[in-house]
Amino acid sequence: MAGKRDYYEVLGINRNADAAEIKKAYRKLAVKYHPDKNPDDASAEEKFKELGEAYEVLSSDDKRAAYDRYGHAAFSQGMGSSGGGAGVDPFDIFREVFGGGGGGSGIFGDFFGSGGSGSGGGRSMKRRGSDLRYDLQITLEEAAFGTEKELELEKSSACSGCNGSGSASGGGTKSCSTCGGHGQVISSRGFFQVQQTCPQCGGSGQMISDPCRECNGAGRTDKRERIKLKIPAGISEGSRLRSSGNGDAGMRGGPAGDLFVVIHVREHEIFERDENDLYCEVPVSFATATVGGELVVPTLNGKASIRVPEGTQNGTLFRLKDKGMPQLNGARNGDLMVRVQVEVPTKLNRKQKELLEGFAESLGDRNRPISESFLEKAKRFFK
Ligand SMILES: [Zn+2]
Ligand SMILES: [Zn+2]
Repeated sequence: MAGKRDYYEVLGINRNADAAEIKKAYRKLAVKYHPDKNPDDASAEEKFKELGEAYEVLSSDDKRAAYDRYGHAAFSQGMGSSGGGAGVDPFDIFREVFGGGGGGSGIFGDFFGSGGSGSGGGRSMKRRGSDLRYDLQITLEEAAFGTEKELELEKSSACSGCNGSGSASGGGTKSCSTCGGHGQVISSRGFFQVQQTCPQCGGSGQMISDPCRECNGAGRTDKRERIKLKIPAGISEGSRLRSSGNGDAGMRGGPAGDLFVVIHVREHEIFERDENDLYCEVPVSFATATVGGELVVPTLNGKASIRVPEGTQNGTLFRLKDKGMPQLNGARNGDLMVRVQVEVPTKLNRKQKELLEGFAESLGDRNRPISESFLEKAKRFFK
């Protein structure tokens, strides 16, 4: 019971307020915080309960006197007091104060002057459909240039037999038999009474009186559907695309959920992606690396050629500006980075070997640019 608010504070009245003031304060606040008016706000429901409890105590002379004397302790378990704490049904109190008779969600619907479903009245029978996830594999080329895909997926769609209403006649509803139209059921757990959303009608208080045979009243059926989706150029691994309204259909005419498509870009044989830059390794002959020359390299748009300067070392990177991936917003392309791999020729014939040996002899120990800096660093290990 720690942290329980003072009942006078809950109702926003002072301690010598009379019965009329208490009632007036309750009426004003109970309308404001009624769960039917705040369907998605759990804190409103809490406040509504708190208000009911405060009113229940302060509107009774005996209970109010006990509360004034002992505070909340007057109603804690073991004091033998009836009511006051848990077990008060805030909806009963509401009904009592507002004089709503009978049953059904009409109590509140009447009060707000709105009949039937939709916002304002009782909770609607309509339910939004679930969001769905679809994992889509695309190639790097598709990611680079954009594409259009057709997805095939199993999902709930509005039932064609009843146009999604769930009712064979299109509008047949009746009061829910489980909760008598309240939308809430009360179950007892030991000393406590717990109020819950009715599992039969989901809190709407209504049921379909003539369920459609095709969908058993759900207003939707599972179907395989094809959905077209545009993939923008420049999309990256893990991106989520939202296809609005292509999730599961809503229940009984509620709005459909959304479809979220998660993009997976397959690994490419040649290109590796780093953000918007692409990397690739291209072999270059020992002779071209040595004396320089043209080197043909792949790009996403076909072949390009780069000028390899004389004395190019293995692993040298060449940057081809704007030949990488496009940026999603189209601002600027990434670059293509080409790393050259100098090839060592194999299976030389006798003549070629002789030529190379002659070549090596002519070089002697000079002109070995990598060795020179390496030897400098490794000096102390070679002593
Ligand atoms: Zn149907
Ligand atoms: Zn019900």
